[in-house]
Amino acid sequence: MIMPGEKKFDMIIVGGSYSGLAAATAPGRALKKVLIIDDGKPCNRQTPCSAGK
Ligand SMILES: Cc1cc2nc3c(=O)[nH]c(=O)nc-3n(C[C@H](O)[C@H](O)[C@H](O)COP(=O)(O)OP(=O)(O)OC[C@H]3O[C@@H](n4cnc5c(N)ncnc54)[C@H](O)[C@@H]3O)c2cc1C
Repeated sequence: MIMPGEKKFDMIIVGGSYSGLAAATAPGRALKKVLIIDDGKPCNRQTPCSAGK
């Protein structure tokens, strides 16, 4: 049962960087409702540039 104001998803992915977005690709193409949650702390956040760039 869904209460008023509630939203229902087929899948919830925690992490919206490379892995999370890749994981969302297949269900997204299958028209599933996917919620991606991200707290903005990717593992490389301490390194604003690398590989000489
Ligand atoms: C210092 C460093 C430098 C790098 N340099 C390069 C480079 O130059 N080129 C390259 O190709 N790769 C580089 N990498 C590797 C690349 O960053 C990783 O392979 C890639 O980011 C991994 O992606 P991921 O989605 O698995 O993890 P992440 O990119 O770390 O994403 C995980 C996401 O999940 C979120 N998250 C985690 N837990 C929660 C939670 N409980 N609730 C909500 N959100 C959550 C985080 O905020 C984050 O946005 C580097 C890595 C590091 C550590």
